[in-house]
Amino acid sequence: MPLTDNQQRVLTTLQQAQRPLSAYALLDILRAQGLRAPAQVYRALERLVQQGLVHRLETLNAYVTCNHPRDCRNGGVTAFAICDSCGHIDEIVDIDLGNCLGRWVKHSAFAMRDSTIELRGTCAGCQRASAN
Ligand SMILES: [Zn+2]
Ligand SMILES: [Zn+2]
Repeated sequence: MPLTDNQQRVLTTLQQAQRPLSAYALLDILRAQGLRAPAQVYRALERLVQQGLVHRLETLNAYVTCNHPRDCRNGGVTAFAICDSCGHIDEIVDIDLGNCLGRWVKHSAFAMRDSTIELRGTCAGCQRASAN
């Protein structure tokens, strides 16, 4: 399904930001392009998440574009490593992790709706910077 104008605007803004943005930060940027209501941004984000183009980071209450669309859509489990110092985010898609969790989900007959794995800590760059 093609994206609506609002969905495309939200996606482009997230791609250009190259960092996670909250719905309100997005709205601030998109006001200049005619978006007025938070609901417009939330609706667009919801669709983009459903289509696997955007991920929601629960602990940051923010959104990032997907860096591995093919793997994410093929049932890989997505994890994010979030640096607390600089905010850098690495998206990790690991088929083994997906298989491992998938076995548990199947075994326990758990009806999984969504999953977000978030690793919090300090990225390699920030560790080097603080060691100097
Ligand atoms: Zn992804
Ligand atoms: Zn960092």
